[in-house]
Amino acid sequence: MTDTEFETIGFCCEELEDAVSSDPADALVQHESGLILLNLGEREEEGETGVVLATIRYCPFCGTEIQTDEDVEAALGDVEIVE
Ligand SMILES: [Zn+2]
Repeated sequence: MTDTEFETIGFCCEELEDAVSSDPADALVQHESGLILLNLGEREEEGETGVVLATIRYCPFCGTEIQTDEDVEAALGDVEIVE
């Protein structure tokens, strides 16, 4: 375990730390803005396949608030979210 690239957010629990990845194919993705996003899977639209991402506020494992609405809004400018 030498992966120390996730330093922008203090993880609330080991489960979240283990689940979050910088790999966009994983279920929980840490965007380069530091925001943690939930990967809802791929969606094909107009011949192009994109990954649908949703923002989360609370840790899905322990329920701790990991990012506030303000955090999400501040970072959202950098994230392409497919509604
Ligand atoms: Zn947690």
